[in-house]
Amino acid sequence: MLKKKNIGLIAHDACKKAMVGWVSFNAKKISAHNLICTGTTGKLIQDFYDEKYPELKVKVKRLKSGPLGGDQQMGALIAGNQIDVLVFLTDPMTMQPHDVDVKALIRLSSIENIVVACTLSSADFIISSSLFDYPYEAVKSNHEDYAKRIIDIK
Ligand code: PGA
Repeated sequence: MLKKKNIGLIAHDACKKAMVGWVSFNAKKISAHNLICTGTTGKLIQDFYDEKYPELKVKVKRLKSGPLGGDQQMGALIAGNQIDVLVFLTDPMTMQPHDVDVKALIRLSSIENIVVACTLSSADFIISSSLFDYPYEAVKSNHEDYAKRIIDIK
């Protein structure tokens, strides 16, 4: 990943206030990167920057709302190597209508070995890591053998 990172941001409803608080605390640092969000999370973050830091001219890329396919869009970006860091604040106390998408997103993040935080504490550790400010070469799992496997259907 380059110095300027592609950061995915998603927060379940019960975690949206915490997400905006985290963005607010790290507003200047995060604004130097590309922000890609699910729809509603992205609207809150865009509104925050427009209101508090209009001079930074932050333009959040908004996908569809998570339960309406936004998580899957984020997954496609991860699979396409277009997300470096994912901050995904999940609500452990509420059944989500898109539970399968949530699991799929975490799984894809493991496959691609991207940086993932599902809690605020993890997000704090990630953003304050000295690695965050530099290019970084992540070890990628080699799934070529899996893709080339031969299945005998005779
Ligand atoms: P939202 O989606 O940002 O559109 O609310 C979040 C989620 O995946 O639950």
